[in-house]
Amino acid sequence: MKLSKKNLEGRLDHVYDAIVVGGGAGGLSAAVYLQRYRLSSLVVEKGRGRSFWMQELRNYLGLPPETPGRTLLQQGQSHLQSVGGDYLSGFVEAVEDEGETFAVTVKIGKTDPIYPVFRSKYLVSASGIIDHLPQLEDQQNVFDYAGYNLHVCMICDGYDMADQKCGLFVNSEAAIHTAFVLNWFTPYITVFTQGLCEVGQDMRDKLKAHGYPLIETPLKRFVGQNHHMSGVELTDGTTVDLETGLISMGSHYYNQYLKGLDLDWKGGNLVTDGMCRTSHPRIFALGDLKEGLNQVSIAVADGTLAATAIWRDIRRSAPPRLWEE
Ligand code: FAD
Ligand code: FAD
Ligand code: FAD
Repeated sequence: MKLSKKNLEGRLDHVYDAIVVGGGAGGLSAAVYLQRYRLSSLVVEKGRGRSFWMQELRNYLGLPPETPGRTLLQQGQSHLQSVGGDYLSGFVEAVEDEGETFAVTVKIGKTDPIYPVFRSKYLVSASGIIDHLPQLEDQQNVFDYAGYNLHVCMICDGYDMADQKCGLFVNSEAAIHTAFVLNWFTPYITVFTQGLCEVGQDMRDKLKAHGYPLIETPLKRFVGQNHHMSGVELTDGTTVDLETGLISMGSHYYNQYLKGLDLDWKGGNLVTDGMCRTSHPRIFALGDLKEGLNQVSIAVADGTLAATAIWRDIRRSAPPRLWEE
């Protein structure tokens, strides 16, 4: 059922089998499986996550390659509803481990918010990440192209950049190394640092040896129309023609609510076992938030694994069901 400020009654003294933080690809998959295992689940989704900004899901078997992430989300939400899962638009602020249960504080509503606390036996962290984008005076100019032909994921979109003139937008010297992987797809790479980092002589020499121009002048704006970026204008007034772009500026990890818990991390990612269980036996992590490949196919499979592991735990500790008249 879709929950809101108005119909929380009964849900606040219910202990869910699992609360799923994040209703993207991984979270919705986990919740559908949980419900089909006849467990009770609540998905909390803040909105505007990574799969929401995915304009085309290009490599998911069984779906046309132009399927937008929003279609996946809508389909997932109605699927979840059809199997009786709870779904709430809200932002998970904090999680407290109470021993047998987790207390999950959710902010509902951006204006006049309320902060109800929900409880569950298991926690599934599927809150993902969001890519850092270049920050320009007119941020809408960046949004006009980001996720279209100004890509953020080489694995997703390298194929579509093949042999095109590509701008690589970075904010650290380490990220420039992306050029030497991206060149599998296209060698026509221009690196833009926007002056955000120092570039050492070795890296300059390496770029030169590959023939990849390095531009350190900050960007004024992206040029193009109808979400198709065709170049950049720099703050010194010069323009550079491009056919595509890749942003490689790191990510924000949606893991703040987990910070009070004792978990194994690798950078911003959670470390898990083969069933997506973290170092805490009742916390699972899926998709982009866990260590591994950031792909829809992986997040969806992670949801399957986590839900199955949770079902096994709960089933094994439950009394047998007897055929009683
Ligand atoms: P998400 O789908 O990001 O879901 C996490 C959800 O958690 C979000 O909806 C977010 O709003 C929510 N959330 C975060 N914090 C909180 C909180 N505190 N409380 C409540 N909710 C919260 N992958 C592919 O496989 N193929 C592609 O072609 C492809 N193209 C892409 C193109 C773009 C432009 C982008 C940005 C990504 C693309 N990806 C692609 C990557 C894909 O979107 C991710 O790998 C996938 O969505 C990961 O699923 P997830 O469930 O881990 O995270
Ligand atoms: P959030 O982290 O979502 O929210 C900030 C705070 O608001 C939270 O800490 C919480 O306190 C509160 N909050 C959030 N959701 C809720 C809720 N449901 N209930 C109660 N409180 C809540 N952005 C655009 O605006 N337009 C674009 O066209 C655009 N395109 C993008 C393309 C790509 C490829 C990428 C990667 C990102 C894009 N963005 C775009 C995303 C943008 O950069 C933000 O990261 C994203 O939308 C998160 O929004 P936010 O600022 O509200 O932050
Ligand atoms: P397959 O999809 O079986 O592909 C292997 C292929 O290899 C087959 O097409 C076979 O013909 C071919 N092959 C085998 N040997 C050779 C050879 N020597 N030379 C050439 N070709 C060969 N899963 C779900 O997730 N959800 C469901 O609801 C679901 N329902 C199911 C219902 C039924 C009736 C069945 C039978 C299965 C169902 N499954 C379901 C399971 C699902 O079909 C499998 O998990 C999935 O297909 C496994 O994918 P695969 O690629 O490993 O194997």
